[in-house]
Amino acid sequence: MKFGGTSVGKPERMHHIVKLVTKEAEIEPAIVVLSALSGTTNTLVEIGELIAKGDRSGAKQAIDKLEAHYLVFVTELVKKEEAVAKAKAIIAEHFEFLNIILKISFSEALSKDILAQGELLSTKLFCAYLEEQGIDHLLLPALEFMTIDSYDEPQIGSIKVKLTQILQQHKDKKLFVTQGYICRNARGEVDNLKRGGSDYSASLIAAAISASVCEIWTDIDGMHNNDPRVVKKTVPIEQMSFDEAAELAYFGAKILHPASIWPAQTYKIPVRLLNTMQPEAKGTLITEEAGSVGVKAVAAKDNIIAIRIKSSRMLLAYGFLRKIFEVFEKYRTPIDMITTSEVAVSLTIDNDANLKEILKELEPFGTVEVDKNQTIISVVGNEISRTEDMVKKLFGSIMNIPVRMVSYGGSPHNISLLISADYKTKMLQQLNKGMFGLD
Ligand code: ASP
Ligand code: MG
Repeated sequence: MKFGGTSVGKPERMHHIVKLVTKEAEIEPAIVVLSALSGTTNTLVEIGELIAKGDRSGAKQAIDKLEAHYLVFVTELVKKEEAVAKAKAIIAEHFEFLNIILKISFSEALSKDILAQGELLSTKLFCAYLEEQGIDHLLLPALEFMTIDSYDEPQIGSIKVKLTQILQQHKDKKLFVTQGYICRNARGEVDNLKRGGSDYSASLIAAAISASVCEIWTDIDGMHNNDPRVVKKTVPIEQMSFDEAAELAYFGAKILHPASIWPAQTYKIPVRLLNTMQPEAKGTLITEEAGSVGVKAVAAKDNIIAIRIKSSRMLLAYGFLRKIFEVFEKYRTPIDMITTSEVAVSLTIDNDANLKEILKELEPFGTVEVDKNQTIISVVGNEISRTEDMVKKLFGSIMNIPVRMVSYGGSPHNISLLISADYKTKMLQQLNKGMFGLD
């Protein structure tokens, strides 16, 4: 059971999820994976950046403000004297650590140590509350079993061995608590699974122990058919396949970290997306089977850059695409969408860190055009490219919107369209009406 930042961000929310997890643990043993309290990781990123810049007084201010927030938090979280003392000691320990970091010279490894404090705090405070309530539990330190290799890839085999060993030693326990996001890298240093990585932790843990289910608890009742921040009416999707979920997570659905699909999919662990504030709601069940054919959802991915390389030398040539792809490989920049004609190729990237260098190296291949501020709109559903009338319906509902690129047939479950970001709202609204009959 993984709970995100907003699910633990207020003391009363923590109280509430303790009820949820204890109820579950009565039925079968549960591992609770927690994120940092909402806002904490952002602040820790900021603190790291301030220290890196040498702005120690700015960093000190941010640390003190965060500490004050936690001190208020625990006054509502726990009440008994002993528990209050314990919670305050936890806060003191972790903020002392941050204050010590202020005094030593900055390094990349140290910034990861800073980022880890959020999940360490949330889980320890959660356990302090469990203890106050007399609820039997065990804290599993993620740094003892969650590891990544030198390519930052989780070592599922070793995670499995270590975690099984720890659990073997505590067969009497029914409730376990651990940190999402944090891990150890190949050098043994504290590291993390990148922003939003707690979902990934949960999926890896579920896979490692062959859990009966991996539950991702957030503040919305499952994956919706469209972006609720953009269109008025959306509906939760009851069931979908891992393939569909992967497309949606990658192409913009914010509810699930895209990397968290593969461990559950590989180890055949059903994933359930549930709402902390509405625990009875069905949410979304993700399994191997799709449940139904046809369009399930649309999603949007922002900040996309489109690059077109046009060259008459591409005509009837072989090896042209390889040379172009090699440029992106060299700069470790993933390509999302690609379409080709006989004399031109268009592709998209979302990482502009090396854009200048990439464009320079593409120049010898032909005329290069760049369009920034683009949005990928993905229409996702099982076998949609084989669903009758789909294309007619899709394009029929967006006739007034200029489309820059179309990607059809790459996956049978996804049709992606590239548009200028200016049309995003309009596009999502019109698709909601055209594809789902929702206003
Ligand atoms: N706390 C981390 C973040 O904000 C990990 C997570 O919440 O999934 O990115
Ligand atoms: Mg998240």
